[in-house]
Amino acid sequence: VKLAVYDDYRVGVVQDDGLHDVTAAIPGWDPSWPQTFMLRTIADFAALRPAIERAATDSPARALDGVKLLPPVPCPNKIVAAPTNYVRGAVQRADLESMYGPQTRNVRDLGMFLKAPSSLVGAGDPIVLPYPDRRTDYEAELAVIVGQPARHVSRAEAMRYVFGYAVALDVTVRGGEERSQRKSYDTFTPLGPWLTTADEVSDPDGLAIRLWLNGDLRQDGSTAQMILGIAELIEYTSDVMTLYPGDVISTGTPDGMGPLADGDTVIAEVEAVGRMTLRVRAAAR
Ligand code: MN
Repeated sequence: VKLAVYDDYRVGVVQDDGLHDVTAAIPGWDPSWPQTFMLRTIADFAALRPAIERAATDSPARALDGVKLLPPVPCPNKIVAAPTNYVRGAVQRADLESMYGPQTRNVRDLGMFLKAPSSLVGAGDPIVLPYPDRRTDYEAELAVIVGQPARHVSRAEAMRYVFGYAVALDVTVRGGEERSQRKSYDTFTPLGPWLTTADEVSDPDGLAIRLWLNGDLRQDGSTAQMILGIAELIEYTSDVMTLYPGDVISTGTPDGMGPLADGDTVIAEVEAVGRMTLRVRAAAR
């Protein structure tokens, strides 16, 4: 199932013929208080799935380009992200060393970091650059959406805790401030275009991940290149903090990250998960 949140926080199922409104099957749906209903839907999805699928069958398809897509998890308890979870080639390493000095550590040494949930936007919103004079990079990432509370979960059990997947961008202002601040500006975590449940992704550790900047292919990797795979990331992170339904784990970015500028168009794609197109603009000062 592909679950989208759109327009006034309505919920839809994406199928080949378009978007089917299933809002009536979502318990506790309240567009004036969108913080909770998708978290409940994810936590209770096994029980809710028949009603959601029935509602999808009963509602007409509408075109996806006629709606505004919002983040498929509007208000997660947290966004946890992996720094340096792909082996760096010489060019990317030199680029990073020019900003941060020697790059000798990866996710195994650095651990995970947090991004503010308020940095989320959907595929229908622009990325806003807060400081047009400072380098601000795109990073295309596979996002893992947690399905059940997870604490001290072994890697052997970890995939049971995955609800689904989405495409994420981990946008980053370069500089000397704390990493969590540089990655937490509003609009710095585009997530979408929808949430694809885990049963639709047969090999999450072998998905092509690509990003185009103004039509040029800039990132072309595979989740097979991750240093810590999805199960290991869940094991590692759940030893630190309880993961809750709807929590987002952004799994790191392959080589090719680079700067954004006002007026750019970014396309980010993860095989079997989705593709989203985002515009970039400078903040009004
Ligand atoms: Mn990242």
